[in-house]
Amino acid sequence: MDDRESQPEMDSREAIARLTDLIGSSRRLVALTGAGISTESGIPDYRGPGGVWESRKPPVLGDFLENPATQLAYWERRITGYPELAAARPNAGHRALASLEAQGRLMAIVTQNIDGLHQKAGNRPDRVIELHGSAHRVRCLACGRQFDSAAILARQLAGESVPHCKVCGGPLRSATVLFGEPLPKIELEIALRAVQQCDVLLVIGSSLIVNPAARLPAIAKRHGAAVAILNRTTTPVDGIADLHLLAEAGPALAAVVAGLETLGADQG
Ligand code: ZN
Repeated sequence: MDDRESQPEMDSREAIARLTDLIGSSRRLVALTGAGISTESGIPDYRGPGGVWESRKPPVLGDFLENPATQLAYWERRITGYPELAAARPNAGHRALASLEAQGRLMAIVTQNIDGLHQKAGNRPDRVIELHGSAHRVRCLACGRQFDSAAILARQLAGESVPHCKVCGGPLRSATVLFGEPLPKIELEIALRAVQQCDVLLVIGSSLIVNPAARLPAIAKRHGAAVAILNRTTTPVDGIADLHLLAEAGPALAAVVAGLETLGADQG
């Protein structure tokens, strides 16, 4: 029998056991999450294979500001798109991270996602660092004020086709980061600090192609942390990972949490 053909399942079970040990011994665990943790909740991976940005050009800020037709099309899409996103439920992967925080094991989540599913799963909002902003808020592009997305949706449903800022009249957009836009500075600083302080960085469902997320594993390593990567595909930084697990996030993380409970029960 060809050894290699019988390897993958064994590898994945072994890798889950090693990941469970690693997380069990961690004192300052930080998770870095990307689109892959939310696909099981029905949120599309915009950049992944078959993602909408393969067939459609990603939105850019200049066009949005200068073109009223772009704004109208944007808000028309959002009137159906936002309720869909708001209805999405956390999956086993999000719930596992909420359990890890409740057990006092998880220091912070740095996320590239804008869906708010970590907070919905029960992670404390001040421990979820949203690198790309949040679709649950809308930002005025003129004065920077932010508004609740549900309140803006209510205005749309009441007949405003292109809602504007109530304070300054400026154009509004989802409080998320577009291509070519800088990342929110404060979030970036908090994320960097968390990654420098962690003893284990667990990357989940990120292809680690987009900066600055792509740089975080190397920064964690330089500060002495172990790096574990859980993703459906390989990533450009797999080479520096202490542990790499090719798997769907939800089932793998649920297995880790179950394993930790067993460990805890054995020790208790
Ligand atoms: Zn404004």
